[in-house]
Amino acid sequence: MKCKMCGSCCSEPGWLKPADWDNIAKRLGLRKEEVLNKYLIIDFLADEEGYKFVLAPVKTVDGEPIAEPGKKVPWNYAHSLGKCVFLEDNLCSIHPNKPSECLSYQCDDSNTLVEIEDPKAYAKKVLETSNRLEIAALWQPYHLDKLVPKKFDKAHCLKNLETEELLLKEYQQDFPDIDLIAQLERLLD
Ligand code: SF4
Ligand code: SF4
Repeated sequence: MKCKMCGSCCSEPGWLKPADWDNIAKRLGLRKEEVLNKYLIIDFLADEEGYKFVLAPVKTVDGEPIAEPGKKVPWNYAHSLGKCVFLEDNLCSIHPNKPSECLSYQCDDSNTLVEIEDPKAYAKKVLETSNRLEIAALWQPYHLDKLVPKKFDKAHCLKNLETEELLLKEYQQDFPDIDLIAQLERLLD
C-alpha cells in the first residue's frame, strides 16, 4: 500500500535497538547521552522476571515533550496522546536511521493504533508480529535500569503485574482468552 502520510503510526514511536542509538547520534552529530537527554525516553516491558528497559523517541505535543527525555516513562505515558519527536510534517526526519521497531511496522491502512475495533484479533496480531521481546533482550547488557529510580525493581514489577491482572479479571467475561490480553497489555504498557 502507499503511505498516506497520516502520521498515525508515529503516535506510538517504535523502540530502538542499541545500534539505532549509535546511528541516530551520528546522524544528528551528537553524543549518545545528548540524544538520550534531548530526544529519547526510557520505556519498559514488564514480565515475571522484572522490568526490561528500552529506549524510544519521546512523544511531543506542539513540539514540547509530554514527558522528560532521558527519564523513565510515567505510568500514563502509553495512553497519552502525542507524536514522535522525530516526526516533521508527517514525515520521519530520521528515516534512514529510524528505530528498528518503526522499520518492522507493517501498516494495514486501518489506523489500528487509534481505533481498535476487535481487541482479540489485534492482540493476536501484535503477539505474532511484534519484535519487542527481541528488542528488550538486546538492551539487557546496557543496564538502563541504573538510569531509573531504584523503586522500579523486580518486587515493584511483580506488584504492578498483580494489580494489572486484577484489573484484567474485569474483562474476563468479554475476553475469555485472558492470557492473550494480559500479554498484550504487558507489551503495550
Ligand atoms: S499509519 Fe500507515 S498510512 Fe499512516 S503514516 Fe503510518 S504507514 Fe503511512
Ligand atoms: S522515528 Fe520516525 S518512523 Fe519512528 S515513530 Fe518517529 S517519526 Fe515515526
